[in-house]
Amino acid sequence: MRIERVELFVVRLPLKRAYETSGSRETHQTRVLARVESEGAVGWGESVAPELPWYSGETPKTIWYALEEIIVPQLFESELERPEDTERVLGWIREHRMAKATIEMAIWDLFAKRSGVPLAALLGGTRDRILCGVAIGIHPDIASLLATIERELSAGYQRVKVKIKPGWDGHVAEAIRNAYPDLPFMLDANSAYSLADIPLFKRIDAYTPMMIEQPLAHDDLVDHATLQREISTPICLDESIHSGEDARKAIEIGATRIVNIKAGRVGGLASARRVHDVCRDADIPVWCGGMLEMGIGRAHNVHLASLPNFSLPGDVSASERYFATEIIGEPFTVTPDGTMKVPTGPGIGVTVLEGRIREIAEQARELRPPTTVARRSPPSSPRPAVAKRRSHR
Ligand code: MG
Repeated sequence: MRIERVELFVVRLPLKRAYETSGSRETHQTRVLARVESEGAVGWGESVAPELPWYSGETPKTIWYALEEIIVPQLFESELERPEDTERVLGWIREHRMAKATIEMAIWDLFAKRSGVPLAALLGGTRDRILCGVAIGIHPDIASLLATIERELSAGYQRVKVKIKPGWDGHVAEAIRNAYPDLPFMLDANSAYSLADIPLFKRIDAYTPMMIEQPLAHDDLVDHATLQREISTPICLDESIHSGEDARKAIEIGATRIVNIKAGRVGGLASARRVHDVCRDADIPVWCGGMLEMGIGRAHNVHLASLPNFSLPGDVSASERYFATEIIGEPFTVTPDGTMKVPTGPGIGVTVLEGRIREIAEQARELRPPTTVARRSPPSSPRPAVAKRRSHR
C-alpha cells in the first residue's frame, strides 16, 4: 500500500482549567492532526507535544516541520504492507518521536479501517473496557486539591495522580493519605528532583503512594536505580523511556518497577507495544499515560490500553474534563466503576468531526506524492532520496 494523500491541521483549543506541572502552566493545547488516505480508507492521528518544549524537545512547530519536510515525503516513497512498516521506513530519522507517532498512529487507524477491525484488535488488545485514572495538576493550596480529588473520585475514577514540584510534595502526600487512608494515589514529579532529595522521598514512603513517577532527570536511568534502592515506593518511569530497549535497560538495572507508556513519547504504537511486551516479559506492570489529548489522541490511547499488561489505571479520562470543544462525535466517558469502553467500530472507532476540524484549524496543508516515478528510491536506501528532494529546494 502507498499513502496517496496526507492532510495536516493545527488545532488549538482552550483548556477548561489551566494545568500546572513542575515544568509548565498550560491554558491551551495545540495539536497537529494528520489525516492519511490510501485506497479509499482514511486514518487519523494527533500529536502530543506541548506548546513549549518542557516535556521533550518537540513542539507543534517541530512536529509540523518534521512531518512536512521529512516524514511525509519519506512515506510517499515507501511501500507499506503492514502498519509496523511505518516505523521501519522512518527508522533512520533520529528523535522526532512525537512527529513520527502522529502519522504512524494515523496509519494504524487506516490499516484497521481497511480491514474493518477495531484498532485494539489489530494491536492485540484483550480488554473491552480500560481502567481509568485522572492526573491532577498543581493546586494553589491543599484545600482546593482535596476538593478536586473528591470531585474526581465521585465521578468514578479508580486512582488519582497528583503532580508535585519542590515545595509542593511531602505535605501533599501526607494530606492526601490523612484524608483518604485507602486511596490508591500516585505522585508525578516530571523530573523536578535529584539524589539530594532522597530524604524527602524517604519521608514520602510513609504515606504509601502506589508509585512515584519520574522523580529525577528526564534523560536519566542510573540515578533512578540508586534512588529505588533507597526507597520503598515503586518508581515509575515516564520521560526516560523512549523505546523497548530503554525499558529493558531500566528494568535490568532496577531503575523502574512500573512503566508509563505514551505512544507519542516512544515514536508510535508499534514501539509502544514493544515497551508493553518488554515489561510484560519482566513482570513489570504498565499503564497508559496522557498528554491532555483531544478526541483522536484519546481514542488511540483507549485502544492501546486494551493490551493485557495495562493492568493499572492510566491517565485516560473523560474528554469533557479538559475541553469544551470536541473533535470527535462520541466523546469518551467514564462509567461509575471507573472504566471506559473500548470502541468496537473499525479503526479508532469514533467519528472524526472533519468539518469542525477544517473550520477551526489555524493552519492546514495538503501533501501528495510527487508525480514522477524517478524520485522514488529503493526501499533499502530511503535516506538519499529525501536528501535529494530537499536539495532541489
Ligand atoms: Mg508523567
